[in-house]
Amino acid sequence: MTAAELTTEEIVVLRDAARRDYDDLVAKKLSLDLTRGKPSSAQLDLSEPMLDILQGDHTAADGTDLRNYGGPAGLPELRDIFGPLFQVPSAQLLAAGNSSLELMHDTIVQALLGVMPGAERRWADEERLVFLCPVPGYDRHFSICERFGIEMVPVAMTPDGPDMDEVERLVAADPAVKGIWCVPKYSNPDGTVYSDETVARLAAMPTAAPDFRIFWDNAYAVHHLTEERPEIADILTRCSESGHPDRVFVFGSTSKVTMAGGGVAFFGSSPANVAWFAAASAKRTIGPDKLNQLRHVKFLKDGAGVEAHMRAHAEIVWPKFEAVDKALTEQLEGSDLASWALPKGGYFVALQVLPGTASEVVRLAKEAGIALTPAGATHPYGKDPEDSWIRLAPTVPVLADVATAMAGVATCVRLAGFDKLLA
Ligand code: PLP
Repeated sequence: MTAAELTTEEIVVLRDAARRDYDDLVAKKLSLDLTRGKPSSAQLDLSEPMLDILQGDHTAADGTDLRNYGGPAGLPELRDIFGPLFQVPSAQLLAAGNSSLELMHDTIVQALLGVMPGAERRWADEERLVFLCPVPGYDRHFSICERFGIEMVPVAMTPDGPDMDEVERLVAADPAVKGIWCVPKYSNPDGTVYSDETVARLAAMPTAAPDFRIFWDNAYAVHHLTEERPEIADILTRCSESGHPDRVFVFGSTSKVTMAGGGVAFFGSSPANVAWFAAASAKRTIGPDKLNQLRHVKFLKDGAGVEAHMRAHAEIVWPKFEAVDKALTEQLEGSDLASWALPKGGYFVALQVLPGTASEVVRLAKEAGIALTPAGATHPYGKDPEDSWIRLAPTVPVLADVATAMAGVATCVRLAGFDKLLA
């Protein structure tokens, strides 16, 4: 029954029941954490054989001694495995260090300090810099913008990706709009998969800035959790077919494939962008950790190997996503206190609660020993104007703890929601 159909007296009864459930919850003295978008130990164990897989081998397919400096583009055989997965020709895909976030950060720094293909000047010499930020989104993208004084303009997500009418309007109107953050598959945190039409419109739209860039963070490219396995359209090809070959930077990594602290990150783009980025990177490194890249090649072997490995992850992760959905459904289905869509991949579930109650839900959960990502983290500057989004990260706790924690969260949503309706 929706709140609009309830009398005040009925809401009071429901609120009092939620209060009793909440008091019981607090009495349990839980200590659970749904804040961290990290692989669990069980997931990391899947890649354990990688640690001693080299057994003295240190030679690339072409005979290069990988112990030495060099090979700035990364190990070709690893780029061959991941090129098709990131929809980038392997000649245009660099395999770098262990973090794609680092590559995104560095790309912005290089754009600030050097002139990018198609740019009239360095971004540091522009009066204003603006990035479009689909919301809810990934807080670390927003932190990079904040760090470098790049203004952030939120754009609402739809089930097909960012609201493209709004994106097209903003990029056409203002040459200060230089970029957009996109997590096109299983978005962090709402799990959205961009539709083909969204990808085509991003590639084709006229932009006032000649050096506008799409930061295509395909962090969850292979992170399917069900048999649905959707594929997004190939943005690099679409951009080039639309006459904007240099528009997109593609990022990805194996952080949540193998080891989050010891994976390999990738940068893919047009030949001109790759040459620009590689030339800039050559000033800061004499080559990546190719031994770790060789470990990945020997362990994952090929695209089929990556797929099989990701299925093993899904066996661990999917039951946790189902537990989130079940706990929310049990207490909140049919009410208008919360909405959520169960993602079919990635690492997060986004929970939308009654406007003005997200911070209260997080506070109540904390008092009950359940740590949630701070409300607002899904928005630029940490401020969700509606105070309605909560990011849930169910991968780290064991399954039973996810179920317990989420039942507690649902109780907090009920208490905060009914209190709000009575305020
Ligand atoms: N991009 C997104 C969308 C993420 O959710 C994360 C981690 O949660 C990252 C990037 C971090 O990637 P990496 O470990 O390659 O730096």
